[in-house]
Amino acid sequence: MEKKISMEKLVNHCKNMGIIFPGSEIYGGLANSWDYGPVGIELKNNVKKAWWTAFVQESEHSMGVDASILMNPRVWEASGHVASFADPLMDCRECKTRHRADKLIENHSKGGVNADAMSNEEMEGYIISHKFACPVCGKHNFTPIRQFNLMFQTNRGVTQEKTNIIYLRPETAQGEFVNFLNVQRSLRMKLPFGIGQIGKAFRNEITPGNFTFRTIEFEQMEHQLFCKEGQDQDFYDFYKGKSMEFLGGLGLPAEKLRFKDHEKLAHYAKAACDVEYQFNFGWGEINGVHNRTDFDLSRHQEFSGKNMEYTDPITNEKFIPYVVEASYGLDRIILALLDNAYEIETLEDGTEREVMRFKPEIAPFKVGVMPLIKKLHAEKAHEVYRILAKKFRVIFDETGSIGKRYRRQDAIGTHFCVTVDDETINNGTVTVRFRDSMAQEVVKLEDLKDFISKKLED
Ligand code: ATP
Repeated sequence: MEKKISMEKLVNHCKNMGIIFPGSEIYGGLANSWDYGPVGIELKNNVKKAWWTAFVQESEHSMGVDASILMNPRVWEASGHVASFADPLMDCRECKTRHRADKLIENHSKGGVNADAMSNEEMEGYIISHKFACPVCGKHNFTPIRQFNLMFQTNRGVTQEKTNIIYLRPETAQGEFVNFLNVQRSLRMKLPFGIGQIGKAFRNEITPGNFTFRTIEFEQMEHQLFCKEGQDQDFYDFYKGKSMEFLGGLGLPAEKLRFKDHEKLAHYAKAACDVEYQFNFGWGEINGVHNRTDFDLSRHQEFSGKNMEYTDPITNEKFIPYVVEASYGLDRIILALLDNAYEIETLEDGTEREVMRFKPEIAPFKVGVMPLIKKLHAEKAHEVYRILAKKFRVIFDETGSIGKRYRRQDAIGTHFCVTVDDETINNGTVTVRFRDSMAQEVVKLEDLKDFISKKLED
């Protein structure tokens, strides 16, 4: 079995199989933007559902929100994004391309040097003393580092004046912070409690993206746990542990995941760590857990002038809660799942098959329904489709030989194929074929739904 898949191969596979397409492709694309196709959207929805179940539904103390992407610009002043949400950029004076200094160092040292812990001066010194070459033209002639704000701006109203500037949110978290009191009061929540949200975020990323790893528009799944100071460390440890449990539950193997504690903490943070996955281009962050102290709510109290305190119902004590954040990048998780699931398997007869070994819960399609001979069996197969589609995401496939159709379903990770043939019409049975083992089993049509449900749970 071969398991070394290049990024280029994965990108092509995703395009050919309807998983992910280049954004605005017919116009030559738009750097770092991608569109999820009919298969990718199912995968994405399944991961969102798994996250919502784990972080909101299964927690008695969590509620969800869906806040606006466009927020009052004062939000981003309070959060610190207007002043300091910036990347350290250098231009190559020769070929005029722009690069992130920290990423140049990390790539050059193959992850051995942690540029996060360096100041701009230290990064410049490192790049000069190691005679870094521009990755595009190979010359050594960089400008000094300049800070470049990552927020996308737009204008509200008809005139483009400075006072009209609003931002596309660069993270979803602020939607949870500004609604802290709304959620707490409307549903009578007692501390500790959490607010979860899934939604789009936007960042003006200029460095090459490694497929969907770094995009200008992406989805975050974030959970903010509000608690009393003193409880924060326990929750931080809890959500750190839960990261591995959640990612492992999706099917990512433990040996491809690792914690990376932050060496340089943001001034307000008490502790922070990332979970990294071993992509084919190296280790990359897919999730972060941050102890944000009372910084966020205190800043919103200061900038909005509204009291953000919580009153303890027993002691009547008033205080601003601490926040422990668990932040997941949906698109990076999808990329890790695709990378991990995709295999080119050499079969006993020497032929190869492409297969995506997703866990049943996240497989884009659970069942592929196919008439053996279109003319004879299509009508019955449509009936089978309708029965199964009430319960599962099913795909109908009637084009090409049955062998080719099986391969096509393997290549998008469909868990079972159900073939409708003369036996179905004469005896009421179908053939169920399993993706991973390729074994086949004859099942009575009336038992099919339960058979598949049970197998998916095994
Ligand atoms: P990086 O250092 O890779 O730029 P970050 O530390 O800025 O990431 P956070 O601000 O902690 O990321 O965002 C939380 C999560 O959102 C990350 O763990 C990641 O999964 C995801 N994320 C951040 N930026 C992007 C992006 N440009 N494209 C896709 N996902 C992203």
